[in-house]
Amino acid sequence: MNDLSLLIDLHLKGQRQGPGGDEQTRLAVKLSGLEQKSDLKIADIGCGTGASTLVLAELLEASITAVDLLPEFLGCLNNTIANTALESRITTLEASMDSLPFDEHSLDAIWSEGAIYNMGFTAGVKAWRPFLKPGGILAVSELTWLTASRPAELDQHWQQEYPEVDTAAGKIAVLEANGFSPVGYFPLPQRCWLENYYRPMQARFAEFLDRHSHTDAAKAIVEAERAEISLYERYSSYVSYGYYIAEKVGE
Ligand code: SAH
Repeated sequence: MNDLSLLIDLHLKGQRQGPGGDEQTRLAVKLSGLEQKSDLKIADIGCGTGASTLVLAELLEASITAVDLLPEFLGCLNNTIANTALESRITTLEASMDSLPFDEHSLDAIWSEGAIYNMGFTAGVKAWRPFLKPGGILAVSELTWLTASRPAELDQHWQQEYPEVDTAAGKIAVLEANGFSPVGYFPLPQRCWLENYYRPMQARFAEFLDRHSHTDAAKAIVEAERAEISLYERYSSYVSYGYYIAEKVGE
């Protein structure tokens, strides 16, 4: 099994494939003002197994396209919604976030939790804006520094993994420079990382290693996750995901 298949296997059973929480998705929806509207068209990009998609479908009168590169995750979402009332509201789409098939001005909102980093925040904001109707909403969560300075170990790790990591002020400046007006920001609280993401993942490590006969590749994946968890535990007051809600302006 290659590294990607192993990663899929480790994350498939998670309720989330990144830090987040239903409560925080609900808060973002509230800030977006979309609850007052009907007949909405929304894309949830990099949806994974669909934690945020399910919340959006429950709260909004919307038809939602749940997009991910990995069909395994979309299959899981399709199983979750099969024979439920949400089935008619959610359509899954296997596509890459940097070449999406949406028409210009076709979407009321674009959602994306913990995924835009795959193409980079600035590139994503620029590439997705044309799909939104004038006044459309962009709601994304993105790795964010919580303070102006931070310990060198943490800084070096994330600068290397994701050079676009920045403060909320920096992220909001990118939104403003690219035709968006911010309507809300909040950082994800620690429980979104620990209780909702890392702890459930840690609980799957032993079974994951057994299932893959403790191969070097499987052990390396677990070790990398353990190192990231340890870093987060030591420095959670300096880094989180920021949730950014912004309105498309200038058209
Ligand atoms: N939004 C989900 C998943 C976050 S993990 C949650 O919060 O739980 C990031 C997701 O982005 C994964 O599901 C991964 O498969 C997806 N992804 C990675 N690269 C992608 C790409 N180029 N296009 C679309 N999705 C991508």
